[in-house]
Amino acid sequence: MNSETTYLRSYTLKKEQIPPVISEDIDDYERESLKKKIKELLDQQEAVIVSHYYTDSDLQILADETGGCVSDSLDMARFGNQSSAKTLIVCGVRFMGETAKILNPEKRILMPDMDANCSLDLGCPEDEFSKFCDENPEHVVVVYANTSAAVKARADWMVTSGSAVDVINYLKKKNKKIIWAPDKYLGEYVQKKSGAEMLIWQGSCIVHEEFKGKELASLRKNHPDAKVLVHPESPSSVIEQADMVGSTTEIIKAFGDMNAKKFIVATDKGIFHKMKELANNKIIMEAPTAGKGATCTSCAHCPWMAMNSLKKLLHVLKTGENEIFVEDQIISSAKNSIEKLLKFTSNNQSIGLANDA
Ligand code: SF4
Repeated sequence: MNSETTYLRSYTLKKEQIPPVISEDIDDYERESLKKKIKELLDQQEAVIVSHYYTDSDLQILADETGGCVSDSLDMARFGNQSSAKTLIVCGVRFMGETAKILNPEKRILMPDMDANCSLDLGCPEDEFSKFCDENPEHVVVVYANTSAAVKARADWMVTSGSAVDVINYLKKKNKKIIWAPDKYLGEYVQKKSGAEMLIWQGSCIVHEEFKGKELASLRKNHPDAKVLVHPESPSSVIEQADMVGSTTEIIKAFGDMNAKKFIVATDKGIFHKMKELANNKIIMEAPTAGKGATCTSCAHCPWMAMNSLKKLLHVLKTGENEIFVEDQIISSAKNSIEKLLKFTSNNQSIGLANDA
């Protein structure tokens, strides 16, 4: 295998950079009242909700009820791009709002909470990343979707967890050396699958990083009939035990397709809403994290995704606050790396590499 992994400094966030997980506490009456008002404003403003699987189930239900979308980051981007709505309300984290703006500069993009960020995005500052790319000019720069607009603008390709292995395999066939950022676990997984020569940025997702290989092995011993579904942002000790490794969409699909009754799932538990909708008769167990009494990073739920709520959604529809803006110059460069992936996934790898490096 012709491979190389250079380890850079670790991009672990400080405790004070990670907010607590806070869920909106509302009763059924208030929930219905909020939903009714939101629906009226969505109609009036020709707006749709584009929501990630990790958000609160109230938002996912509302998105489905109002002709919006609940999906992973790639399909959120696709949906927003194809929608005729004038306003997209992106319920997710900051980079998802920016991606929506990059692909739809003419549309108004609102987000329920502008502080909803992502440890991968925060762990890949554009200035440091750009400097690193400049020092390795012979490499094609491939970044994960979970990055800022400015980092995407510096990249040749943007990929998602569901497309990363295919894109890297494609580049490897072209004998390209690769800079990968920012998730080290996904990068290591892709590198193992492809054998590509990769320089891997050392960021991580604070949610998936908490899944524990040893504890997962014990749980599997107690439930030998359970299938293990793992998101590739998890550590390799967890990935190694998986029956299936994939993106959130692929995990949901595998859960529906696999002929098993029990599943152990290593990803944010917000996804359980869609899984239960698909097959309510199947049993879902959370993959073990650091355990009870630990910090918010051990609860298998993203504190930034949890910032999205019905109350905040209504507030932005009423006020027009929290609009996402991205500089024109960044939009035009970042669009190139995102659209390359959209074409790659829809054209089944038929595009050329003329502008890759
Ligand atoms: S779950 Fe992890 S990767 Fe996803 S938004 Fe939260 S911190 Fe980022």
